[in-house]
Amino acid sequence: MSASPPVHAKYEVVIGLEVHVHLATDSKLFSPAPVRYGDAPNHDVHPICLALPGVLPVLNARAVEFAVRAGMATHCTVHPRSVFARKNYFYPDLPKGYQISQYEEPICTAGWLEIEADGGARRIGITRIHMEEDAGKSIHDDAVTHGEGTHVDLNRAGVPLLEIVSEPDLRSPAEAAAYLRTLRCVLRYIEVSEADMEKGQFRCDANVSLRLHGEAALGTRNEIKNLNSFRFVEQAIETEIVRQARILDEGGTVQQATRLFEPATGRTKVMRTKENADDYRYFPDPDLVPLVIDPAEIERIRIALPELPDRKRVRFEAEYGLPAYDARLLTADRALADFFEDAARANGTPKSVANWILRDVMQHLKERDTDVSSTRLAPEALAALVRLVDEGKVTAKSARELVPELIEKGGDPAALVRERGLEAVSDGGALEAAAAEVLAANPGAAGRFRAGEDKILNFLMGQVMKKTGGKASPAAVRDILARRLRE
Ligand code: ADP
Ligand code: MG
Repeated sequence: MSASPPVHAKYEVVIGLEVHVHLATDSKLFSPAPVRYGDAPNHDVHPICLALPGVLPVLNARAVEFAVRAGMATHCTVHPRSVFARKNYFYPDLPKGYQISQYEEPICTAGWLEIEADGGARRIGITRIHMEEDAGKSIHDDAVTHGEGTHVDLNRAGVPLLEIVSEPDLRSPAEAAAYLRTLRCVLRYIEVSEADMEKGQFRCDANVSLRLHGEAALGTRNEIKNLNSFRFVEQAIETEIVRQARILDEGGTVQQATRLFEPATGRTKVMRTKENADDYRYFPDPDLVPLVIDPAEIERIRIALPELPDRKRVRFEAEYGLPAYDARLLTADRALADFFEDAARANGTPKSVANWILRDVMQHLKERDTDVSSTRLAPEALAALVRLVDEGKVTAKSARELVPELIEKGGDPAALVRERGLEAVSDGGALEAAAAEVLAANPGAAGRFRAGEDKILNFLMGQVMKKTGGKASPAAVRDILARRLRE
């Protein structure tokens, strides 16, 4: 494949992403308050989340395990010792006046993720992964506040987060999106986060700068905060590239700034500039001893790590003889990959099973906006349906009609085929009779075929299929008609 042209003719685009991920723990990072979504405001709180006087944070061991897993799955060095720091800033939804985060000594550093880009596979560096707590939410929405000021909801205050910081290695909006998709896929595989963007469990800050092609030094960056959909990430970066290119083209200099993306207009606006950048006055949190993880514990977590998407993809190609494209799609989701394997084992012809999953099953899942594990379709049932088709007992067309029902209600394909009378008409006599009738009823069409109009055969086939209620094998019908027309 030839390399695609640069995203911008004159400038090289440089992007680094900071991703915030909610960890799927039952309770918060330093308090026993539950982590839940959609509860009434301020119902999932505890004195620790509220920063009442005298409270002390207690670290959630599960969150540490999740951070270690994420580090391993992204090829990071996992440090047996890391330190929690206070990041001080004043904001109404931050009751303590500081956020507990990791700063100089994060839990994971120096990893990478491989993404599939236009020109092939590319390795994107991961600078660091650190643990921190989320802040609460300020609600400015008039439907809630009735125009009276701002309300504060602290349900989210203290929810455990990973911040995953990439190297400035990404070169286009599409690569940024590919990186985010790959990262989300890996995090879901290792079951540390649902990473649902709509629930705010996976959010991205995009740092963007431009430099002339071939230039070594990085340009001045702007950071676009809190992008919560893949589309917004790409859109915001596109907009930013155009904005910065215009400034540079006019001989100006880009001012370093933090910006907010406005989905309604597709534009960004300045939140703060470098001159008034926040000084967080970081210092180690005196309430928390350094986090020290026993190397045996780190090893235990490594051993329990599931097979990751990259390795699974390579194995699917080798073990089931699938094309790279199929293997990539099937391994994008762990539940789908498991479903495929179960169905392929039960059926014995993996490529057929892959085709049916990627074409028919996926189409219905997309329409229902669901994943395969939440449907009633059993892998054994799909295996049986595919076998019925491959053995010629039911036409692909009839089988396709059963897929939505199997997804919604489940059931045994062989029994459904019998109940509905969908058995393929394999009786040669019945097909011969239908073909003879059709040819007798359409002498004109038969004549045109004999005069060299090949396409008319499709019309005649359609007529025979109609007579058999769509249950005849198209290949058999074609053979019979062709033979009779030559006679
Ligand atoms: P901060 O926390 O102040 O935003 P970091 O040093 O943690 O600063 O960097 C944040 C992100 O910005 C990283 O993902 C990094 O790769 C990216 N980055 C740094 N410099 C540039 C640049 N010149 N252009 C684009 N991205 C950059
Ligand atoms: Mg930043």
